[in-house]
Amino acid sequence: MFSQHETSRLLLPSLIFILSFLIFIHSNNADSATPQQRDLAAMLDSSSFHEFVNTKYDKIFNQYPQYTSAAFDFPVGKPDARNYFKAREFGESKHLGEDWNGVGGGNSDLGDPVYSVSNGYVSFAKNVCCGWGNIIRVVHHTPNHPEYKYVESFYAHLDEIHVKPGDLITRGQLIGTIGNANGVYSAHLHLEMRHFVDMGVGPGYSDDTFGFLVPTDFINQN
Ligand SMILES: [Zn+2]
Repeated sequence: MFSQHETSRLLLPSLIFILSFLIFIHSNNADSATPQQRDLAAMLDSSSFHEFVNTKYDKIFNQYPQYTSAAFDFPVGKPDARNYFKAREFGESKHLGEDWNGVGGGNSDLGDPVYSVSNGYVSFAKNVCCGWGNIIRVVHHTPNHPEYKYVESFYAHLDEIHVKPGDLITRGQLIGTIGNANGVYSAHLHLEMRHFVDMGVGPGYSDDTFGFLVPTDFINQN
């Protein structure tokens, strides 16, 4: 056991140690946040994230107003999905998109063209791990829509990608081909539409439908 004298002799050094440790942790956290962590923090505050995203796309579409969206078409069997059907609807088994298949079934639609649903800006185009395969994401400027200034279309499991991030594209432009996510599924197009643009790639299936639109409804109404 410490005598009372020894205890008080140890108290000040211990306090100094604890204090410097806390200061170290605090300053270390502040300095070591990566850009991704800062982006994540911004995303958690969704209103400031929304503003950040709008500012970014305002710059692009103010400079290139001819790529603003006036209408939307289906991405397969353009313009109205002729000879295609939905094998899985939005909301079916918590599906966050629609699965579009050729009427021939199976892999008969492998390599079929996929078209952009409207004018827009390619924000993402690459292979993503674990069942997603090739994904293209396009941001559409919709200033005349009563609710949404920007919406995003999201095309997954693609066989080929024919655009690159930063491309400005037009409605009906060929952007890729229907694939099977490197053999994971029989070929189909997984199509998502989102009114909250630039969210993470996401899980494909979820109870949480925040930020998502029913693709067919949105395309038909716009
Ligand atoms: Zn799907």
